Amino acid sequence: MTPKKIIIAIDGVSSSGKSTAAKDVARELGYTYIDSGAMYRAVTLYCIRENLIHQGLVDEKTLKDRIPDIRIEFVFNELTSRSDTYLNGEKVEDEIRNPDVAALVSPVSKIGFVREAMVTLQRELGQEKGIVMDGRDIGTVVFPDAEVKIFLTASPEVRAERRYKELKIKGLDVNYDDILSNLQERDRIDSTREISPLRKADDAIELDNSGMTLEEQKAFILEQVEAWRQRTIQP
Ligand code: C5P
Repeated sequence: MTPKKIIIAIDGVSSSGKSTAAKDVARELGYTYIDSGAMYRAVTLYCIRENLIHQGLVDEKTLKDRIPDIRIEFVFNELTSRSDTYLNGEKVEDEIRNPDVAALVSPVSKIGFVREAMVTLQRELGQEKGIVMDGRDIGTVVFPDAEVKIFLTASPEVRAERRYKELKIKGLDVNYDDILSNLQERDRIDSTREISPLRKADDAIELDNSGMTLEEQKAFILEQVEAWRQRTIQP
């Protein structure tokens, strides 16, 4: 019998390795991985391109009028075996990872109507279950009934070091201290915002992966999935 498909929510602080963990688990289970942060990043890129952010302040009035016209899609890429993010038909997968987008994404993602639009899209994508979604509010707001919830953390220094290496490999001219302060600032804004702040759901399992390998992290999450299955087996 095919096992019942479930929703796995992976939330946590910035650069804690949520997307790597989520991708690894999705691949292992044959599930779809959905990167909710990519959606907020795509809206931020839209705002940058349309000149809707001035000195860190978002022109909310114009953005509100335009939000119905912002189309975000994920398209599976056969070459890389992962989904790419598209903004109004254009592939923006690489551009949304750049530091200028990272620097402005938190002010954009704290806006109520932006969150409403993204959460609606996220719930649509999760309708069929069989997904692993990572973000900040997946276990608390988007899918409060997700069967398995993980909350990832790691020390700020470990996270900054990982992100620094990742961006360097991509050839970007980045600075460790800037990355460290960006992720600490994002955590601060994300956890103190009024709507859907970053917090661990009461029923989420917290995992500090500072000293863990990717294999150990994947194994830990798969154990939680198995534990959930064992708990729900009918006697
Ligand atoms: O996960 P990632 O670092 O790509 O997310 C970028 C930003 O998007 C976060 O710092 C946060 O401000 C926002 N975000 C959010 N809710 C989510 C996912 C991301 O507010 N579910």
